Amino acid sequence: MSRPILATISLPSLRHNLKVVIQTLHDATALAARPRPFVWAVIKANAYGHGVDQAVASFDAADGLAMLDINEAVRCREQGWTKPILLLEGFFEPADLDVLAAHHISIVIHTFEQMHMLDGWHSQVALHSWIKLNTGMNRLGFSGDDYLLAFEHARRLQLESKLSSIGKMTHFSCADDNVALTIEQIERFTACTKNLPGAISLCNSAGTLSPDLGAYMPEAHEQWVRPGICLYGSSPFAHIPAADFGLLPAMTLAADIISVRGVPAGQGVGYGHAFVAEQDMRVGVVACGYADGYPRHAPSGTPIYVNGVRTRLIGRVSMDMLMVDLTPVPAAGVGSRAVLWGENGPPVDEVAAFAGTLGYELLCALAPRVPRFVQDLEN
Ligand SMILES: *Cc1c(COP(=O)(O)O)cnc(C)c1O
Repeated sequence: MSRPILATISLPSLRHNLKVVIQTLHDATALAARPRPFVWAVIKANAYGHGVDQAVASFDAADGLAMLDINEAVRCREQGWTKPILLLEGFFEPADLDVLAAHHISIVIHTFEQMHMLDGWHSQVALHSWIKLNTGMNRLGFSGDDYLLAFEHARRLQLESKLSSIGKMTHFSCADDNVALTIEQIERFTACTKNLPGAISLCNSAGTLSPDLGAYMPEAHEQWVRPGICLYGSSPFAHIPAADFGLLPAMTLAADIISVRGVPAGQGVGYGHAFVAEQDMRVGVVACGYADGYPRHAPSGTPIYVNGVRTRLIGRVSMDMLMVDLTPVPAAGVGSRAVLWGENGPPVDEVAAFAGTLGYELLCALAPRVPRFVQDLEN
């Protein structure tokens, strides 16, 4: 038998979460008598650790898929995805362009270097494109001063039949916790792009689900949002649990207890004796460690559910194992199931908060050595 650890990926939960996002957008825009924005389901980083194939199977209600890797994009086409696909960082070398054209993959253009590669390209098929504006994230995108120049360059490429549609895009830096700053970014975007034609795309999960930003979004005949993390059942907001949005965990990480021992009061547990028993206690050893993707920085007290009962991590997480306090679960023994995060366990965001990181990092960092079980859609 292989190690008793398993990550369960729930396709019904993935599908449900997309539905929640679409319904939220529908409700918000119906009120304002605007059309519902189109949705790029973001599936970068192997669909935030859930698997590209799982995402393609579950996100059929999305209007498009967005990712970074050209090979993952081609794989989505091979899996039968016929709707738009967007590469959020665009392309990296001229040789990419023919592949993009062959598979009808849309691109983000964020540098003049990319424009020059397009200048030198001899194409049969025009690519759909989005010209990215830096409105304050200071990561990718043309500056406000360069944007018009970039847009005019794109229109020349359009006349040469290298680009088809040209959209306008930006990215928020603080949509999860700073409404005022995000409104400033929206205002910069509007000021710079309002006289240019084309569809717009601004929002990640936080921008999409934020109760505060809707009223400030620019008018456009066509808008696309780019939710990622919320589709996987993790909240983009530190102060709002995913469950408050009706989102369901799509990944559950569970492992069995492989050993139990009594530890007398005063004795240390695990490396560095980072935890010392306050009283005589029973300790379970769980077959999951940081080499499986459980965060090594999670401290004693991080929640773990054993047989459905909430208890806590104790001591330092080792490479292949971690220890759990069995005091509140006297019936637990070897073979009992510990849920590290997900369904019938703590929310991944809560574990992440204890470890000083985000649900994003834990989901993406699930190790390849962890076996996966895919819970299929009930059709
Ligand atoms: C990752 C990413 C998103 C999705 O972000 P979430 O916070 O996961 O919703 C959207 N847009 C771009 C450009 C991204 O890189």
